[in-house]
Amino acid sequence: MGESLIVVGRDGCIQTANQAASTLLGYSREELIGRPAAEIAEVLPQHLSSREGVDLLYHHRSGAEIPVLFVASELRIAQGGGGMVWLAQDVTERRRVQLELLLAKEAAEQASRAKSAFLATMSHELRTPLNAILGFTQLMEADAEDQGQESLLADLRKVHRSGDHLLALINDVLDIARIDSGRMELHPEEFDAAEMVQDVVATMEPLARKNGNRIRTACPRMLLFTDRFRLQQSLVNLVGNACKFTQGGTVAIEARPETAGGDSWYTFHVSDTGLGIPLEVQPKLFSEFTQVDSSATRKFGGSGLGLAITRRLCRLMGGDVTLRSEPGAGSTFTIRIPQAVEACVTKG
Ligand code: ADP
Repeated sequence: MGESLIVVGRDGCIQTANQAASTLLGYSREELIGRPAAEIAEVLPQHLSSREGVDLLYHHRSGAEIPVLFVASELRIAQGGGGMVWLAQDVTERRRVQLELLLAKEAAEQASRAKSAFLATMSHELRTPLNAILGFTQLMEADAEDQGQESLLADLRKVHRSGDHLLALINDVLDIARIDSGRMELHPEEFDAAEMVQDVVATMEPLARKNGNRIRTACPRMLLFTDRFRLQQSLVNLVGNACKFTQGGTVAIEARPETAGGDSWYTFHVSDTGLGIPLEVQPKLFSEFTQVDSSATRKFGGSGLGLAITRRLCRLMGGDVTLRSEPGAGSTFTIRIPQAVEACVTKG
């Protein structure tokens, strides 16, 4: 069906209408002529200004309402004639498809939230027995050491290391699932950024030394009000990667306050002199399970979840994390967050 056209005279009655209008409204063209246009649609002054068209309802003879995309324009004819031309396109089908798409999208989002909630619960259930296994392994290690059972001790240490690795993976999955299901809560507190950076260095020092790296810091004392635990976790992820993918080099953590648009921000730059990251993988790196080279994973370990978690956490804190890297010339990851996050934000 084509576009419905109705000419409305200055007296508010229909002067003429095309066949499409007649079919759309269920009246013959003769029945339409002379009928008050207000019976067909309630056109208000604001409906007359749009050139792209506005959503409106036309009334069918049967009393049914027909959604249309409506445009009106003035008709100027000499000697006091003229009026308005109403153009309308039936959008019933388009609206039905849009509604179907919306419902399908809502159903998919609901399913995705349910999956994340399931994962969050499962990860929690997995951690409890694993913690028991790790605890008893430690006890057995201590016994084996006391009794000088060297070969048993070596095996128990392997169990311990694998258990630790498994726990780290489960914690990562739990974090992603928590954020995706809207269950991750921030617990903001006031703390000194410089002290927190020193804690990060203390945690990462052994990993840095293992690869012959030196950690250098430049971080002024500065009070922040945000989730210390989650910020520290994000920095540990970045510094951990820098130490992992750099051999005999330097890992630098430089922090500084910044003001932009009247807001106070704080940035942490974590740079290394390591492998660097090829340009083509950089945009995907913050997605789950992305690694530059899966063979490197076997060598360096990791789940490909660290950067995805870091980005989500930084965004939850009102900031973001970005990357600048040149293959062969090291990488710099930058976390930029507001100095004060809104109290107790829970993202749904
Ligand atoms: P993973 O647990 O595998 O380290 P991440 O999400 O933290 O997962 O990192 C994803 C991938 O990004 C890594 O496997 C590595 O290929 C690359 N990457 C991250 N940081 C660096 C870095 N500082 N230097 C080189 N490559 C890096």
